[in-house]
Amino acid sequence: MLAVVKRDARNQPGTYRLLAPDGEVLYVGKTKGVRTRLLTHFRAEYPRDKSARMIAEAGSVVWDYEPSEFAACLTELRLIKRWRPRYNVAMKRDARHYAFIQLTAAPAPKLHVVRGAQGDDAATYFGPFHGAVQLAAALRELNDALGLRDCSLDTPMHFADQEVPSAAVPRTPGCIRYEIGRCLGPCVAATTRSDYDERVRLAREFLAGRHDAPISVLREAMEASSERLEFERAASLRDKVVRLESLQNQFVRLRVAVESLTFTYQVAGQDGDDRVYVIRRGRVRHESPAPRNARERALLDASVANVFGSVTRDSGAVPSHEVDELLLLASWFRAHPKELERTTGPGVATLAQRAESLSRRRARSG
Ligand code: SF4
Repeated sequence: MLAVVKRDARNQPGTYRLLAPDGEVLYVGKTKGVRTRLLTHFRAEYPRDKSARMIAEAGSVVWDYEPSEFAACLTELRLIKRWRPRYNVAMKRDARHYAFIQLTAAPAPKLHVVRGAQGDDAATYFGPFHGAVQLAAALRELNDALGLRDCSLDTPMHFADQEVPSAAVPRTPGCIRYEIGRCLGPCVAATTRSDYDERVRLAREFLAGRHDAPISVLREAMEASSERLEFERAASLRDKVVRLESLQNQFVRLRVAVESLTFTYQVAGQDGDDRVYVIRRGRVRHESPAPRNARERALLDASVANVFGSVTRDSGAVPSHEVDELLLLASWFRAHPKELERTTGPGVATLAQRAESLSRRRARSG
């Protein structure tokens, strides 16, 4: 393998795969310079370094060049998702830094805090957030206020309007939250599916900042407690209000942050292979070579208009399959803030004109 790398690999951006003798993809990596990166793997110390252990297990290495480091990052992400190589922990390590609120699929959807996407394609995610512990505390208040369940996902659910033999429905709930009025009790057929779904809808509305009932109910209870001179209870209710307000504020900030990852991004590529990425809400929705003439510009304009013109869902939610790309783009622009100078808002013509003038300048300079 080393001889092949020394003979053939060039120092250009790209991705590479280490393959086991039976063809299993052991590891996918990306780099600004394929040759240097691969040679680094071969210099690693066995068995202390993971790199050296991978090389010892691998039977071959293959690589593909990319026009830029950014393109290599995107391709690496897609290849890791496709092959799920054993040695790739980078995505997991990235994801561990962030907390998400996961809204699980029916029956009886549950809102809870997770690290990164959990591979559940039916779930919706809200995030990324810092501070999983505070997030979980705030979410507990929301679940309590709306009566949503927070038990383990494999707890059997039985709705009051579900057709099951009554003997199959447990008489006692799985936890005390139903007894103390903090859960509607979908585990003991104490609520209908539509009533429960309505509470889930209210939770989403609350998170989207369009519904304040959980906070106003607590605030009224807090004022009533104060009037009755029950100061301890009033203080505890005030803490709940503060946690819920902070959750809602975090969501407002999150929506702004995700929404701000909406622009066209032009990346200078190797040997003039410049690319334009149309990014909306932290996901690349369209990618094409930078336009070099009026016809290509018109095509790009149409694609950009299509991406920015489409109606989107509630902006706090991120589908499971978009979580990793959102994290990648957020960390890319955080690590390379100057790259934001290469972005333009949904002003299609500006970007296309910039791309064309760059191509013209290059052509003039020969
Ligand atoms: S009362 Fe039942 S549904 Fe509600 S959290 Fe407890 S076990 Fe889950």
